[in-house]
Amino acid sequence: MTTTRWPILLLALLLLGGCSDPRVQRRQFLQFGTLIDISLSGVDAQRAEAAFDAIEDLLEERNRQWHGWQEGVLKRFNDDLAQQPADGVPVPPSLKRLIDDSKRYYRLSDGLFNPALGKLIAAWGFQGRPQPDRQKIERLRGALPDMDDLRIEEGRAWSDHPDLQLDFGAIAKGLAIAQAAELLRSRGIDNFIVNAGGDLLVRGRKADGSPWVVGIEDPFQGGALATLAMDASGAVFTSGSYRRFYIDENGQRRQHIIDPRSGEPALGLRAVTVLHEDPVVADVAATTLMLTAQNHLPEMVERFGLQEVLVIAEDREAWATPGWLKRLQWRSGADIHPQPLPKQLQDQDSGK
Ligand code: ADP
Ligand code: MG
Repeated sequence: MTTTRWPILLLALLLLGGCSDPRVQRRQFLQFGTLIDISLSGVDAQRAEAAFDAIEDLLEERNRQWHGWQEGVLKRFNDDLAQQPADGVPVPPSLKRLIDDSKRYYRLSDGLFNPALGKLIAAWGFQGRPQPDRQKIERLRGALPDMDDLRIEEGRAWSDHPDLQLDFGAIAKGLAIAQAAELLRSRGIDNFIVNAGGDLLVRGRKADGSPWVVGIEDPFQGGALATLAMDASGAVFTSGSYRRFYIDENGQRRQHIIDPRSGEPALGLRAVTVLHEDPVVADVAATTLMLTAQNHLPEMVERFGLQEVLVIAEDREAWATPGWLKRLQWRSGADIHPQPLPKQLQDQDSGK
């Protein structure tokens, strides 16, 4: 069974998020296959309820448009592209930004972030059917599609690869959170947390002027590993091998981030948490860093312009940027002891 760990993080946030504050309005609902949890500060109940309703509607619509394999705009687009019609397929307006951004970040990540791999991701059993299809994986691995195989001209799209299938699982949540935040700001609401299963965007402060406090989940045992007082606005996103996985027929653990170089699930890192002001960048970067070789982490962090990063390997070795080394408040007894990033990794690199 595919497993996600959001209830534990929710609990952590519940305890840490200052929810007893009566000036915080809060709503939770399920969407995007996860728990959405929105906290607003300095807003009366009536305005808050109207904003919550609007966000619920927005996210329901986006889920329908962007879902990778259920009936909807993306599935139809993928099906149409697969026919490879000579005159192409019109690009649905709701997918344009995801496609443009995906092409850009595909290049920025040297091809590690590759949403064209939907067929391979499905063959590994991450689109509702949790068993790997060995034959299909072997066939696909021979020549994997990438974002350059999707050609866009004047609002139409052509697939130059018969196996190209878009899966926006590593970017859609970031854009959905960004759009929810835009909606709040258009209603004059400037102090909030929009949290989607632990990936979140914080703006402003609580009504008493104190910072929002968010939790970083322990990727080994759940619960809060550390807390962070958000003294500025920003998006905190985590990707991890522990977030979606299943045990295959041979008892092997299979996690959901696929390495385009091997065609296999990524190995080595347990969790990556990043801070960036833009949730789209944060979402893409967290997934990309899960696929980045340890000695290239500092360069990739710089390329994405990340403000802070915490990287935890499967063997519990860990690295964090100097700012977070200072500012993360570790749970007492937390058994993770990060080294400074980038210095440590650059030293390792130059020592080779
Ligand atoms: P989460 O689902 O926990 O938010 P991520 O943001 O890291 O996690 O996104 C992982 C998802 O991205 C996978 O479930 C899959 O749909 C998709 N994916 C897997 N490998 C890649 C890859 N190399 N490039 C782009 N997307 C990927
Ligand atoms: Mg991501």
